[in-house]
Amino acid sequence: MDYLEGLNEPQREAVLQTEGPLMIIAGAGSGKTRVLTYRIAHLIYHGVDPFNILALTFTNKAAAEMRQRIEKVVGTESRNVWMGTFHSIFARILRIEADKIGYSRDFSIYDTDDSKSLIRSILKELSLDDKIYRVGGVLGRISGAKNRLVSVNEYLRNTTIQADDEANRMPEMGRLYKIYQDRLRKSNAMDFDDLLFNTNVLFRDHVAVLNKYQQKFKYVMVDEFQDTNISQYLITRKLAAVHQNICVVGDDAQSIYAFRGADIQNILNFEKDYPDLKVIKLEQNYRSTQNIVKAANSVINKNKAQLRKNVWTENIEGPLIDLIKASSDNEEGNLIANSIFEEKMNNSLRNSDFAILYRTNAQSRAFEEALRRRNIKYRIIGGVSFYQRKEIKDLIAYLRFTVNQNDEEAFKRIINLPKRGIGESTVAKIVVTADENNINLWEVVSKVQQFMPGRLAAPIDNFSTLIKSFKVIANQKDAFETATHVAKNSGLLKDLHEDKTVEGLARYENVQELLNAIKEFVDNPENEDKTLSSFLQSVSLLTSADDEKDTDTDKITLMTIHAAKGLEFKHVYIVGMEEDLFPSQMMLASRADLEEERRLFYVAITRAEKKLTLAFAETRYKFGRLKTCEPSRFLNEIDPAFIRMDKSLNGREAAAATLVKSMTPRKPTVVPANLHTPSQDFVPSDTSQLTGGMKVEHPKFGFGIVKDVEVQGNDKKARIDFEKVGEKTLLLSFAKLKIH
Ligand code: ATP
Ligand code: MG
Repeated sequence: MDYLEGLNEPQREAVLQTEGPLMIIAGAGSGKTRVLTYRIAHLIYHGVDPFNILALTFTNKAAAEMRQRIEKVVGTESRNVWMGTFHSIFARILRIEADKIGYSRDFSIYDTDDSKSLIRSILKELSLDDKIYRVGGVLGRISGAKNRLVSVNEYLRNTTIQADDEANRMPEMGRLYKIYQDRLRKSNAMDFDDLLFNTNVLFRDHVAVLNKYQQKFKYVMVDEFQDTNISQYLITRKLAAVHQNICVVGDDAQSIYAFRGADIQNILNFEKDYPDLKVIKLEQNYRSTQNIVKAANSVINKNKAQLRKNVWTENIEGPLIDLIKASSDNEEGNLIANSIFEEKMNNSLRNSDFAILYRTNAQSRAFEEALRRRNIKYRIIGGVSFYQRKEIKDLIAYLRFTVNQNDEEAFKRIINLPKRGIGESTVAKIVVTADENNINLWEVVSKVQQFMPGRLAAPIDNFSTLIKSFKVIANQKDAFETATHVAKNSGLLKDLHEDKTVEGLARYENVQELLNAIKEFVDNPENEDKTLSSFLQSVSLLTSADDEKDTDTDKITLMTIHAAKGLEFKHVYIVGMEEDLFPSQMMLASRADLEEERRLFYVAITRAEKKLTLAFAETRYKFGRLKTCEPSRFLNEIDPAFIRMDKSLNGREAAAATLVKSMTPRKPTVVPANLHTPSQDFVPSDTSQLTGGMKVEHPKFGFGIVKDVEVQGNDKKARIDFEKVGEKTLLLSFAKLKIH
């Protein structure tokens, strides 16, 4: 078998070991994804029905790439493997089984904007202060609960959570969670977290359903296993319980989603859950030069919580890592664009050989401008993506409502678009009327004369007639014909067409582009189900790394490090290597957070094949103010043997000296020292004697002055005025405080 020749010894062992539980824990670029791909090809080649294989990947794009590779070995049968992200695979299963958990199969999937808009409405209806109940914060807490599989009822019963809510001055959190869930259900909608939560519920409560999928999926495989959360872990464990043919691959050193509930503990649990587990290590890196591999090792070795691995490579030594110092963020953009231009010319490279990686999406602007000025083509992954544009969301909302007339968020978006004279208060009234009468939104809308007679009944009536006519089309035609019909007859295209500004034209073209994408979807033989509902599901589950509505592939890629996971580029630029930016100030509450940032840096370094360049700026605009920046501590953590300094500096020694000088001692910055130094050695004090007027330090909030302390049940709560974040009330048994 030819394909086995492209594997080294332990890789081949992993491919051939098809039966029983298998874990591959291996360093970056050591061929984990390659092993999974070959393993699937191998199974099919040996007669396993592709329908019996489940492979969970980090992005849909990664799944599509794997599929293409497998196709080369086994032909088009590869199309029948169940392969995709956790969210897309389980959305597919939930759609089939929706009625078992009280949904209809046309349920909508709410994106983050929809969820936030719903929370905003609920806060308004309950007259809660959105300065305390911040929308993002509320959603974050709900999401956290769901990812830990805490249901509304459990949430309401759990006193620890309640105390925590009180400490965060959000005593109504439980109620919010409940109303939010009720409203989703009424809208026949699920948010992203529900897709996993409800799959767990489905498999827990419907043994026959679980059994069906256990029988079906004879082979289960998970890529990027280090970033699965407990909810995902339980699903895979259940599915593999009968056949026990589960293979997970991952790298603990690349775990970068702890903030979203991913738990490295899963790797450790795996050994306990499968006593006859076979573990294979891969240590040879095929991706990067020796300098890059060694530099990456020198960084990750600073982490304490890590399984020790010895990643090495037979590749050439390669050039040293370049370090670029820029005076400002704009200059950083220019220097990087120049460097790319030079490298391209000197080494006859393509745009697609380059990637610029940053910690936060907001950093892309300077690079975009610099590249645009030089006419170098680029694409941005994540950021404001195609599917986030207003005109696209508008049409999608129409399509969603055509499929599911209880989708509250889609309804709010389109009821007055184009303008029908139906204002926000009427919309709120419709929603409340549905709630009070305990009926669905659509019932109120379609029988508006009965529920809300009056002046506004006529336009609402017209709207419901329009939607009914769309529904008729959707039942007869495919996604493309339906969408074209809706775009024309809703009045959306006409509105855009009349707008003759440049932006208006671009928006019109974007809508056309969406229709093209739907046409492509319908024409693609891999998609059996060509209905609108099926198309909507595929777009709602695109991850930020998937979003690439672009056929011109020769472009520089700009993206966050998070989105770059699993990918590789010949030349990589990691930019914004500054304290408070990377490591991110927001993430530095504890040593564990610093270690996560360091793993993120490790992920970034190991994306590079041939050449790595790091850059930092000395000043940067933040929230409209120019701030001085300090080079990132991570620069000091790379073994200097692998770094070459800024080209403007003469010779390595001089450069090294400059670097050391610019980093030690640390220059004072505008950020107070307490937030600046991570609380690695933070030892909380005994707070039993805490009283008003004392100065305290909190690992996350920094320094503050205690205003007063009050007894609350068996506990005490302190009101503290923090320099940086303002007043907070904290329960003393939870709060970690140091008295100064
Ligand atoms: P990451 O940790 O970043 O996800 P990975 O362990 O999944 O990395 P792959 O992406 O599978 O690694 O492999 C890295 C690169 O090395 C790919 O270009 C792959 O084709 C190549 N590669 C892996 N194994 C071999 C091999 N035995 N022979 C030749 N090339 C290989
Ligand atoms: Mg991989």
